Amino acid sequence: MTNPPTTARPGRGRPVAFTADARTVFLDAVAAGAKLHEAAQKAGVSRNVPAQHAKDDVAFRAALDQARATGRAIRAQSMPHGESRYNHGGCRCTVCCSKATAARTARRREAAEPEEEAAQPIPLTGRTPGSSPSFLLARAS
Ligand SMILES: [Zn+2]
Repeated sequence: MTNPPTTARPGRGRPVAFTADARTVFLDAVAAGAKLHEAAQKAGVSRNVPAQHAKDDVAFRAALDQARATGRAIRAQSMPHGESRYNHGGCRCTVCCSKATAARTARRREAAEPEEEAAQPIPLTGRTPGSSPSFLLARAS
């Protein structure tokens, strides 16, 4: 099977309405830590427009990658210190380390000692497989 090259072909589909101004608003919002759909909303475009645009425009894609990295760093900074920031933000301050260690230790202890209820057998209700109604009828006749 020979597929045509998957490069963008001009004149194909509806032209994307994503003006330079809207792009700037979008990239600024992303760099400020906004989620992509929030940034798109702020720029007044549909949430899939920037992604579509990034496929065709190499310069825009590079700018978007840069803005996303900046936004991620800003979001990580505003995250409160704790296990989540240790895991997702990569923070290794004393607060994050001690909270992550405490949470991990608690989970390990929980996994090593199953709770009392879990050890109880499930009570059997209803018929056992050996006593089907047809068998009982056969015996009665
Ligand atoms: Zn921290």
